[in-house]
Amino acid sequence: MKTEEIIALEKKYIFQTYSRYPVVITKGKGVKVFDNNGRKYLDFLGGIAVDTLGHCHPKVTSAVRNQLNKLVHISNLYYTIPQVKLAKLVCRLSGLDRCFFANSGAEANEAAIKLARKYAKEKLGPDKYEIITARGSFHGRTMATLTATAQEKIHKGFEPLLPGFKYVNYNDIEDIKSAINANTCAVLLEPVQGEGGVIVPSKDYLHQVRRLCDEKGLLLILDEIQTGVGRTGSFFAFQEFNIKPDIFTVAKGIGGGLPLGLMLASEKVASSFTPGSHGSTFGGGPVVCSAGLAVLETIIKCKLLKNAKETGAYFIEKLNSLKVKYKSIKEARGMGLMLGLELTFPAKELTFKLLERGFIINCTNENVLRFLPPLIVTRKQVNELVTALDETFKELKIQ
Ligand SMILES: *Cc1c(COP(=O)(O)O)cnc(C)c1O
Repeated sequence: MKTEEIIALEKKYIFQTYSRYPVVITKGKGVKVFDNNGRKYLDFLGGIAVDTLGHCHPKVTSAVRNQLNKLVHISNLYYTIPQVKLAKLVCRLSGLDRCFFANSGAEANEAAIKLARKYAKEKLGPDKYEIITARGSFHGRTMATLTATAQEKIHKGFEPLLPGFKYVNYNDIEDIKSAINANTCAVLLEPVQGEGGVIVPSKDYLHQVRRLCDEKGLLLILDEIQTGVGRTGSFFAFQEFNIKPDIFTVAKGIGGGLPLGLMLASEKVASSFTPGSHGSTFGGGPVVCSAGLAVLETIIKCKLLKNAKETGAYFIEKLNSLKVKYKSIKEARGMGLMLGLELTFPAKELTFKLLERGFIINCTNENVLRFLPPLIVTRKQVNELVTALDETFKELKIQ
């Protein structure tokens, strides 16, 4: 099929909920992807922080293939080997005690919200249900998680929202203090805001939130759906900040491209979920769990946390050298291989220009170019991207 035919079919038969780039991607290998005309691109978005090991990593492909030949689905009425192995490894790597398996980020956050409410009702009192979240956050598109997402454009048209959420400014401890009331049960935050524009909080913010939650008897829930699985240079971003949440969620980067979401909690909180409290038909199936295990084991074996830290540091240095050249670059920021370049103008056009040059990047919060490459990305590939950015700025006569 020709590109135009494929685009026409999408326009006719699929809900028009996405504004797509005019390319049909058919293959991927490592950091490279190819379109249906055989054109090569370097992928600096990684399927929005999903393709942690790059495309079609042989370890993931063979783990999935082996599992497909053994058992694909049996339901959570039975024990399976990949599920317990993955749970044990994620608990060991995070220091939390128990996992619940879901199929996406939004579902993992739904589980976290339900667990926080159930725990609070039982252990803190019948009036404890309110969850504080931050402006600019993104927690998903289901009714509970879109309510948790403190962005008007995500709410619009879907009211009435779920009761029991309160919004504060991100990176502002005083705002959380004044939002706490007799109904508060938890604070839910991203360690680094992703969709909000790659916003890194001040060094002590999460420490202060942790301390405040301890003082007031509130749960701290971290949404690590974008920051988790090595993205920021540690397995989980809270380890970079030296704190421990009561509950956290992971999704995007853990399944090697397959749909897998997890909610983890400390034993104290996890015990509030009992048989029948929550569930998922597909959650934690053998195939996705085999993929998840292969991803984590490969990160360890190939020292990809080190690469995320070192190549990330090199990348931001390169972005900063662009900032010196162009007045319209406001800031280069981020952690590990979760980076943003804030511009003084809307950045969408630049993403199209970069695509023409063979680079996949995206733009978030209007004027922030976002980079979430696979953790296997090399300095050479970073150089190629930064050169292409530089040339695009010149071509468009951007100052
Ligand atoms: C992407 C994302 C979600 C939602 O994940 P889905 O798998 O799309 O439901 C939630 N929180 C954060 C921080 C995300 O980046």
